[in-house]
Amino acid sequence: MVKAFDNLEIWWVTGAQLLYGGETVKIVDGHSKEMVEGLNNSGIIPIKVVYKGTANSSKEVEAVMQAANNDAKCAGIITWMHTFSPAKMWIKGLQQLQKPLLHFHTQYNAEIPWDTMDMDFMNLNQSAHGDIEFGHICSRMRVPRKVVVGYWKSEEAQKKIAVWARAAAGVADAHNVRCLMFGMNMNNVAVTDGDRVEFEQRLGYHVDYYPVSSLMEYFKKVTDAEADALVEEYKKLYTIKIDESGEKVYWEKVKNAAKAEIALRRVLKDENATAFTTNFDDLGGADIDDPNFLGFDQIPGLASQRLMAEGYGFGAEGDWKTACLYRTLWVMNQGLAKGCSFLEDYTLNFAADCTSSLQSHMLEVCPLIASDKPKLEVHFLGIGIRKQQTARLVFTSKTGFGIKATIVDLGNRFRLITSEVECIEPKPMPKLPVASALWVPQPSFEVGAGAWILAGGTHHSAFSYDLTAEYWEDFAEMTGIEYVNIDKNTTISGFKTQLQNNEMYYMLKNALK
Ligand code: MN
Repeated sequence: MVKAFDNLEIWWVTGAQLLYGGETVKIVDGHSKEMVEGLNNSGIIPIKVVYKGTANSSKEVEAVMQAANNDAKCAGIITWMHTFSPAKMWIKGLQQLQKPLLHFHTQYNAEIPWDTMDMDFMNLNQSAHGDIEFGHICSRMRVPRKVVVGYWKSEEAQKKIAVWARAAAGVADAHNVRCLMFGMNMNNVAVTDGDRVEFEQRLGYHVDYYPVSSLMEYFKKVTDAEADALVEEYKKLYTIKIDESGEKVYWEKVKNAAKAEIALRRVLKDENATAFTTNFDDLGGADIDDPNFLGFDQIPGLASQRLMAEGYGFGAEGDWKTACLYRTLWVMNQGLAKGCSFLEDYTLNFAADCTSSLQSHMLEVCPLIASDKPKLEVHFLGIGIRKQQTARLVFTSKTGFGIKATIVDLGNRFRLITSEVECIEPKPMPKLPVASALWVPQPSFEVGAGAWILAGGTHHSAFSYDLTAEYWEDFAEMTGIEYVNIDKNTTISGFKTQLQNNEMYYMLKNALK
């Protein structure tokens, strides 16, 4: 199976001790190799698992943890105690471990060999209490980790490991994300602002401002031939739909959009950035009627749509937090089927049978969630500094369940909020010139939207059909940020209590630091 994350490894360390003699450790080693091979051959774990041997002493634990910290390929460690492994030998290593940890409570053999069961067998297969001893020291030391319980050949257990592995890949990637803000975040907006220093300390994302004037230097160097070639690619990928703009304006605007895309791509590549934001109030140039005008004719929406589909994080109106989170979501989502997008809560549909919320944006919805081949259209967009016709991909989303996510800055901490939603079929909207999705938050619009507002959620979110709350829970655990999820079991009063308890927990946690 082709792994979605070729450049990463998950390390497997088996805990044991030398009390039972070298022969036992040899058997433990053999079993461990077979189990790691089994996980790799399952086709379920998206990252290669690498067996790093048994750890039989404090020195050995420390050495493997230090090696994991120092190896950029290592996205996380799986530990498993084959025999009893006195947990004080894990203290110094766990103190140093900086990579995500998964504690797998499993056993080499599935069932007790009833007929031959003896003391030797029991002493060799002690995961039942070896893992409990290890779990204790993790809890005593407050080590964040995921505990997966189940037989190593079971699909259910393997799927839980796979979720954790994807979240670990997201964390590893976040550490290397550089997000460029083309222009600043939109003036006066509270929810898209926050502490970028703390953001990098906690989550790894590095956010930089990039002058639009420098972007324009790239823009003016894009040749007509380069733009024409990209337009040819558009023709192959999308349905060409020429409406009120007329043929001449249509192709002129599509070509402008292609130029903007090429310029953005080049800057992102040259600056080694994998996420970006735009702002409709900052588009370069001054007077569009000036014959020497150099600037975007509108926000580069088509470019943002296409770059998002390739994994670039995107946030509109300078929303750097959502741009970074979308990048992570896309990384975790790699190789999964149904897709993901940046979205914004736009318009409500209070209907007698089921209230829903129309998700869209001025232009920037990712075509990965499209139900059909997107249409390439040109329409007027009257928002921002330059009110002009501009190109965009128009489609409606697939139906089905998904999850939306956001990170907010609460002043003393970041809170990751997710909400499970069901995308439903909208009625035809022949006059809507942008892509959209129509969803109902769980357990109902009233409770789901109410809880989101109480949690301080954003109007922008990063959405995926393929991920579940378990991915985000693992991600929050690994990064040490607060996490709340809104799902089919959420009640407003229960959710309020959770928020109040969290407030107290984080206040105390900060005070005790
Ligand atoms: Mn917006």
